[in-house]
Amino acid sequence: MMVPRIDVVEELELSYEIPYLTGKGEAIDTLTVRINEQRQGVSISYALVDCTEQHLNSLFPSEGVDSLAQMTKRILRDLEVKPPRIVLQLWEYSPATGLSSVEGRAPVNKQRDTVLIILTKTPFVYRFGHEMVLWHQAMHAKDRWEYRFPAAHPMVDAGEWLDALWHFSIDGRLQSWGKPHYSRAERLEEAKTVLQRVCPGKELQARAEELCHELWGKEVTFTQLLEIGRDLGLEPASGL
Ligand SMILES: [Zn+2]
Repeated sequence: MMVPRIDVVEELELSYEIPYLTGKGEAIDTLTVRINEQRQGVSISYALVDCTEQHLNSLFPSEGVDSLAQMTKRILRDLEVKPPRIVLQLWEYSPATGLSSVEGRAPVNKQRDTVLIILTKTPFVYRFGHEMVLWHQAMHAKDRWEYRFPAAHPMVDAGEWLDALWHFSIDGRLQSWGKPHYSRAERLEEAKTVLQRVCPGKELQARAEELCHELWGKEVTFTQLLEIGRDLGLEPASGL
């Protein structure tokens, strides 16, 4: 008799310092995560379009989830992020779901006792392919874990420009530690594209290069990035 993997075994409530503001102006500062199973000491939550056991087994096979859970634990440990609880939430790709446009999220709750890693990539290529995105998300989590960034609800979107600047710091640090990362050229390109879009009419190419030089590999704080944004005439997206 196989143990069903899709049953909800626990409902975990997480709270955040920065709430998500809905279109109606409602502030949501908690998130309920439905845990489906425990694997390798990690709580696993599935967000499927088609909620059947068979579909789950074909989309996220047990061995794949085991290796992903192990990898997540190892990466967080390497980064000295040691929460009492790690939750891995795996989303089935669907154009209809809100988070599907991003590769992942890594919110840390207000109490800093739970790190939630959300991955939305599919088809499911386990063992390879997820290593880079996990390192990346784990770095976002580390900065929150160590209070350089606030514990924001996972639906909070601080703005692409803020992420683009944060990425200079993240990938520069990963590079200096010899870990998988996006290149400086890729991140500079990203920042230039984003700044061009959010500051139309301003010539910010040179400024993007300066910022890349300044921030690459350096620990930054949310406050610092907001100040840089303010100098550029940028405000964070609503709610912050
Ligand atoms: Zn990122």
